[in-house]
Order: sequence, then structure tokens, then C-alpha cells
Amino acid sequence: MVKRIEFATHGGPEVLSYADFDLKHPADNEIQIENHAIGINYIDTYVRSGLYPVASLPSGLGTEAAGIVVKTGSQVTGFRPGDRVMYAQGPLGAYSEVHNVPEHAVAHLPEGVSFKQAAASGLKGMTVYYLLNQTYQIKRDEVFLFHAAAGGVGLIACQWAKALGAKMIGTVGSAEKAQRAKAAGAWETINYQTEDIAERVKEITQGEKVNVVYDSVGASTWIASLDSLKRRGLMVSFGNASGPVTGVNLGILNQKGGLYVTRPSLGGYVTNRAELDQASKALFDMILSGKVNVDVPEEQVFALKDAQKAHTTLEQRKTQGSSLLLP
Ligand code: NDP
Repeated sequence: MVKRIEFATHGGPEVLSYADFDLKHPADNEIQIENHAIGINYIDTYVRSGLYPVASLPSGLGTEAAGIVVKTGSQVTGFRPGDRVMYAQGPLGAYSEVHNVPEHAVAHLPEGVSFKQAAASGLKGMTVYYLLNQTYQIKRDEVFLFHAAAGGVGLIACQWAKALGAKMIGTVGSAEKAQRAKAAGAWETINYQTEDIAERVKEITQGEKVNVVYDSVGASTWIASLDSLKRRGLMVSFGNASGPVTGVNLGILNQKGGLYVTRPSLGGYVTNRAELDQASKALFDMILSGKVNVDVPEEQVFALKDAQKAHTTLEQRKTQGSSLLLP
């Protein structure tokens, strides 16, 4: 038996329970990992609430952690018990003391990257990698807009943008978060609680606007994001923190200048060993070179049994950067 967080119905943080779970021996292609730090992602709240579907209930939660290999299935070739590893796209159930993960989703952890750093940055950092390098290639001195810049994904994006020599305009929900995003490398910030996003983007860019907007806030920023784009610009809609964008009349893309829209996820960019090795190496290189700091403040490190509290804090927009659970 291991302890894990599970939920039997969809709903708010209160549906999460700390329960005993009868973990099976790993399947032939699986690795059994003792989790030392578990990543909390906003996506986990969508799974818990029912916005993203689950195969069956009761279900485990979470897809990301870092730890030590304890057992391997008979067909596993790249890992041995004792190896330090991380996974960002595991099967649901990472909010657990121990978890079984298919080999193709597991990466070795280099010396110098701690379990906490890996769990705080795996999913979020590889997301920033594909967004800024693959979905659209951000160039030196390029000005672009990135929403929720003081969040987990956002603070990594601020630092990565600075490392690329780009000028990121980051949106945030408070003056304190604006300071944090700037300190991390955002070129300019916009407080979307008090300022008009598109107007400020026009002002900052002296009327030019931007080639690309990265929007994980969703419903509440959709129109402002489109209005911040130059003619034929690219809208990258990659999340739903304020609710999903639905019911779009494609004509709006014509009205606002022949815009492009994509709705990507990490699952569309990291699909095999080669892509995982490439994205995780890019992230680890950024951490090891000191260009991206992913240390988590103590008040955002929660005990596994306190997952309810961790989700409440995240959804109340009280966090900056990443949050962790410790088994
Ligand atoms: P964050 O730490 O960024 O938390 C979400 C942030 O969104 C909040 O802190 C808040 O910042 C902002 N926000 C804006 N409107 C709302 C609202 N109505 N309710 C709650 N929060 C709001 O989370 P993550 O770093 O884990 O993820 C960031 C986003 O990226 C999420 O939308 C997630 O789904 C998406 N994502 C997408 C991936 C992909 O590949 N498609 C992969 C990973 C994450 P503020 O107070 O400053 O407004």
C-alpha cells in the first residue's frame, strides 16, 4: 500500500482525499518511481474539476514528479533501480508516494538538478521551451506578449525570454506580481486587473503591436490578445485559467487582420524519447547555466496530504512561480 491523493467525483479542492492505494508491480514497459518531489500544475485543477476528462473514477491526480527508480518492468532497458529521474507527462497519479510510469515518459536527472527543481520545472519548463522555440521562434529583440507572467510557466518564460535577448511583455494580476515578473526578466508588465491589455500593448510598442501572443488565461483575455496582434500575427492559446475559449466565429480572425490561431499542448511536441531528451536537455541546460532559476519558496511547498490546500492557494491566485507537494 502507498499513500496517494485521489478523487471519486469532480469538483473543488474538497473532493481530493489522502488515501491508501494498492500499487501494482510495474508492467513490462514501466518504471516504479519513489517520488521525492511532486509538481503541481494548473492542469491538475482542470482534471479535478472535470474540464479535462479522466478515463474512470476514482482516479489519481497529477502527472509530474522527480525521484528514484525502485523497480523496473522486464522490457525496460534505459533505467536501473537507484537512478535519479523525473517525469512530466506520466499517467494520472503522480500525487503519490510511489508511481508507475512508462519508460518513454521518464528522463534521467543530471547531477546538479535537485528533485525539487525538476518537479517544479519539468512540465512548465518544457512547455516554455516548445512555445518560445517551436510553436513560434522568438528572436533577439523581438517584443511579444505572454499572459500570467508571474505564474509557474510565466516566471520560467520571463527568464527564458531574457536569455534569448527578447522583450517579453508579461501580464499579471497584481503590483507585487509585476515586480516579480520584472525581476525575473520581463521587459514590461501590464496589470490586467487595472489596465487595458491591448491599449497598453499599443502604447508600449508605439502602435506596432506584436507578432505573437501566448495566452494561458483563456476566456477572459481572448479578445484582448487578438487585439494585441499585428496583421497576420499568431495567437497561441495554451490554457484556460479563467475558463476555456469556446464558440469562436472564425470570421473574427479576418476582422482583426487575417490572424492565425493555434491551441498546442506539450503532448503535441514531446511524443517520444528523442523529443523528451531534446526538450528536457534544453531545460536542464538553462537551469544548470543559471539562466533559469526554479527554486520554490517554502510557503509554496506543501505536504502531499495537504493537496486540498495547495489547490485552493493556486486557484485563489495567491502563488508566484511553481508549487510542490512533498510525500
Ligand atoms: P500558474 O502558476 O500560472 O497559475 C495560473 C495563473 O493564471 C494564476 O496565478 C493567475 O495569475 C492567472 N489567472 C488569470 N486569470 C485567472 C483566473 N480567473 N483564475 C485563476 N487564475 C487566473 O499555473 P501553471 O504555471 O501551472 O500554468 C499556467 C497556465 O499554462 C495554465 O493555464 C495551464 O493550463 C497552462 N499550461 C499549458 C500547457 C500546454 O502545453 N498547453 C502546459 C502547462 C501549462 P495572476 O494572478 O497574475 O492573474
